[in-house]
Amino acid sequence: ATPTALMVGTGRGAQLGILISGPEVLESTQRVDTVVLDKTGTITTGHMSLVDVVAADGTDPDQLLRLAGALEAASEHPVARAIADGATERVGELPTVEDFTNVPGLGVQGSVDGHAVLVGRPQLLAEWSQALPAELVAAMTTAQQGGRTAVAVGWDGAARGVLAVSDTVKATSARAIAQLRELGLTPVLLTGDNATVARSVAVEVGIEPGPDTVIADVLPQDKVDVITGLQARGRVVAMIGDGVNDAAALAQADLGLAMGTGSDVAIEASDLTLVRGDLRAAADAIRLARRTLRTIK
Ligand code: ADP
Ligand code: MG
Repeated sequence: ATPTALMVGTGRGAQLGILISGPEVLESTQRVDTVVLDKTGTITTGHMSLVDVVAADGTDPDQLLRLAGALEAASEHPVARAIADGATERVGELPTVEDFTNVPGLGVQGSVDGHAVLVGRPQLLAEWSQALPAELVAAMTTAQQGGRTAVAVGWDGAARGVLAVSDTVKATSARAIAQLRELGLTPVLLTGDNATVARSVAVEVGIEPGPDTVIADVLPQDKVDVITGLQARGRVVAMIGDGVNDAAALAQADLGLAMGTGSDVAIEASDLTLVRGDLRAAADAIRLARRTLRTIK
């Protein structure tokens, strides 16, 4: 009866939009008690748009958009796409970028029209001694309190602007997280984004913000340590993510679930793929796997 039960399980999985890497996966679905969820592209759509442009005193906002937009046109990050598209819409064709470098989890740098340009978290600008003036710090805080992701822009030795992008929580995320809770799992939000934004998204999807449930400002290479830390405290962890920066954490988790809409690297690192990128399929997958295993035993 074993192979038949498994086939029924995986056949039903395909109908529900779930791909299972192999039968050994089923075992871990029995034991998971914690589910770590990436924010951007997993809980949210990841299709961001540019909503605010704040230029420092004496800076031309069009110049800010030209330089930042040109630099971000070379990056694949959802924040970058929003800035490049928004800038093109407002100022037209963008100049080309030279010496482009991506600094994972922090931002980008490169040369545009002869200016050395930086776009990213204030930490990235600080590394080049470009501290944000009070007016830009205030602009970042205002944007973040509104649940927006804000990045700073600097060139030729000074911070000169702030750009805010908005993301949208998927319509199904709150329901999906409630279903995961019903299965006995404790949800944890994990993100490289700022804590204010992370808390605002958590509240929107029904995760009570606390130091153990909302883990923000995590660099891509440190996401895996959050999983190992939970495991060291005896938790059995499922991780759901979509990005290249989630791959190590997905592989380390007791059960890795990738969004089918995400990067190939994340899918390859995972045990289960949620083909349609609908978070509700995560609960369906765990419920189905538990039921299939019960049939086999
Ligand atoms: P997440 O965990 O939410 O998927 P990342 O680790 O990819 O986020 O990025 C974390 C933060 O780093 C972003 O919220 C943004 O502030 C900054 N960042 C990363 N890449 C870029 C970029 N290309 N341009 C501007 N900011 C960036
Ligand atoms: Mg993501």
